[in-house]
Amino acid sequence: MHSREWESETITVLTKTYPECSKKYGCLVCTAGINSEGKWRRLYPFPWALFWGKTQKLNFKKWDLITLPTRKRAPDHRPESFEVRPTTIDQELKVVDHIGDWDKRKQFLQPFLDADLEALRGSDRSLGLVKPKEIYDFMQKDRQRITDPDEELTLERTEAAQQLLLIDIEPELVKKSRTPPEPLPWLGYAFTCQGPNCKGHEMMCIDWEIQELFRKQRFEKTREKALWMKDRDLYFVVGTTWRFKTWMIIGLFYPPRAA
Ligand SMILES: [Zn+2]
Repeated sequence: MHSREWESETITVLTKTYPECSKKYGCLVCTAGINSEGKWRRLYPFPWALFWGKTQKLNFKKWDLITLPTRKRAPDHRPESFEVRPTTIDQELKVVDHIGDWDKRKQFLQPFLDADLEALRGSDRSLGLVKPKEIYDFMQKDRQRITDPDEELTLERTEAAQQLLLIDIEPELVKKSRTPPEPLPWLGYAFTCQGPNCKGHEMMCIDWEIQELFRKQRFEKTREKALWMKDRDLYFVVGTTWRFKTWMIIGLFYPPRAA
């Protein structure tokens, strides 16, 4: 299987998720992409403060190629999960290239397109790429209406947990950044995938771009942008969370439709 040694990898970044907080790990950002051997990678933990405000030390973005040391994340059974060294990552991570062209991006992703969500659910995978067939709506759900324990957990955050993690990682960052990220609302799409037996999905979207838009411009503007994307050639990068294997949309890819 995978060695537990640190090895340098080059990864094309497809998405960054909005900081997710839990009692145990505090607020962390996870990033997903594909390495130069064509393997999916979920990289974490990146302390959110490294991307934020005055303490920002990392600013890589979607479609950057980054090199950094990674190794298989031991207690995480998802095959794509690799860990980074949160205390030294700002010195170790290098942005080496960027894919700026929509056609090149599409070409890059073509081999990784999954048939449908139903097939992904039946596999041991925890990251994938699907093309929605029809988008019905983009919604915000009340906390009371959330029945999935995993989605509930993703929304859960406490000040105490955030402080705990930051202390663990870097005391300096705690002093400088007292303000935690705003809690995640349940925002997501209602859609069908390409599956021949698809019964439809309501899936939470934790893509940073969407959550950040909500933070700055609230729901109506976010919904407008989210539904504007359905007139583009829209794809979802999807991934599961650790505990309950709930699939979520972790990134959006929306090139213009071919003329
Ligand atoms: Zn489906």
